[in-house]
Amino acid sequence: MEEMNFSDLGLSPQVLEAVQKAGYEVPSPIQQKAIPVLLKGKNLLGTAQTGTGKTAAFSLPLLSKLDFSHSTPAMLVLTPTRELSIQVAEAIQSFAVAIPKVRTLAVYGGQDIGVQLKALKRNISVVIATPGRLLDHIRRGSVSLARVQAVVLDEADEMLNMGFKETTKAVILGVILAGLIMLVASTGVFSVIGL
Ligand code: AMP
Repeated sequence: MEEMNFSDLGLSPQVLEAVQKAGYEVPSPIQQKAIPVLLKGKNLLGTAQTGTGKTAAFSLPLLSKLDFSHSTPAMLVLTPTRELSIQVAEAIQSFAVAIPKVRTLAVYGGQDIGVQLKALKRNISVVIATPGRLLDHIRRGSVSLARVQAVVLDEADEMLNMGFKETTKAVILGVILAGLIMLVASTGVFSVIGL
C-alpha cells in the first residue's frame, strides 16, 4: 500500500501545522480511516485501542471542520474518567495550537464546581466532560450545548459499563434536539443507549 501523508487527508492548514509540531509523520490506520469520514460531516462508529492515535483521529478533523466562532462550545467529548478528560483536553489544546479561538476545558466530577463555573464563563469551545458532572452543569445552566456541532463518546463502552447510560443518553438527546450534526463513538453504543 502506498504511504499516506497527513497532507493528503484534507485537514486545515492550522491543524496540519499542529500535526507537524507534534512530530507526527504518518497517520495511523484509524486516522487514515476516520479523518476523511469526519471531514465529510458523517457520523462515525469506530473501535480503537488506547495508543492507536484515536484522540487525534477524531480531534484533527473536527478542529479542521467545525465553526468555533461562537462563544459557546462547538464540540463535546464525553469520557468515563477524570484522567481521560484531562488527557484529551490537553491533546486537543495542543492540536489547536494554531487556532487562536479554540479553548478546551476538562469538566469532571470530584473537582470543586466553583472552579468549573468560573472557567466555563471564559468562551470555552471544546468541553471534555464526564457525564455526571456535565449533567450537573446543564441543570445549573452553566454550560450551553445549543451550538454543539459534534459529540464524541470516548471509551463509550466503559462509560456505559460505569452506569452512565441514562446520563449519556440524556446529554446526547439534548444536543440532538439542539441540531446535532455528528456523533462519534465506538461500535454498538447507539443500540445500547437506544438511539
Ligand atoms: P491515543 O491512542 O490517542 O491515546 O494516542 C497515543 C499516542 O500516540 C499519543 O501520545 C499521541 O500523541 C501519539 N500519536 C497519535 N497519532 C500519531 C501519529 N500519527 N504519529 C505518531 N504518534 C502519534
